[in-house]
Amino acid sequence: MKPLSPLEEVPIFTTQIKAFVNWTRKHALWPLPFGTACCGIEYMAVVGAHYDVSRFGAEVVRFSPRQSDLLIVAGTITEKMAPVLRQIYEQMPDPKWVISMGVCASSGGFYRAYHTVQGIQSILPVDIYVPGCPPTPEAVIGAIIKLQQKIQNGDTPQQRLLAKRQAAQETAPKTADGIE
Ligand code: SF4
Repeated sequence: MKPLSPLEEVPIFTTQIKAFVNWTRKHALWPLPFGTACCGIEYMAVVGAHYDVSRFGAEVVRFSPRQSDLLIVAGTITEKMAPVLRQIYEQMPDPKWVISMGVCASSGGFYRAYHTVQGIQSILPVDIYVPGCPPTPEAVIGAIIKLQQKIQNGDTPQQRLLAKRQAAQETAPKTADGIE
């Protein structure tokens, strides 16, 4: 057997910093469940022992927007609640993501009425919609996996916006002192 060179003995791999950061982000989602109705109860099943969303690295539920990067809107959103939901979203640090769980959050559901928001995309940028009334825990886990794929590819509205800002900063004209 051919003896290994010193380099071959060390288990190393190469990657790009962007890919590595996205890989860590996708496996460490901290959700804030904004449960307003029955979908909130269904979400409890997702984090329970049977479905165990911790298998996908998304179980560290926080009820503070300052500690969360994944907003899961689970339930009906009324017009009065809309500014509160927007404020919570704005309080979350960047980058952040949004899952719209169930037809009520995604389209108003069967509430075709003036007091219900007819889809939270009018308030927030939504990354993934989960269909159903209520969506099954499998569907929610499927949405988390889909979101993780998008995060890994840097293909969410938040990541695209941050990349655009970073590119603009890098190409901004600098003075002789290096100050923009
Ligand atoms: S989508 Fe169905 S289960 Fe979810 S909040 Fe609306 S009525 Fe309840």
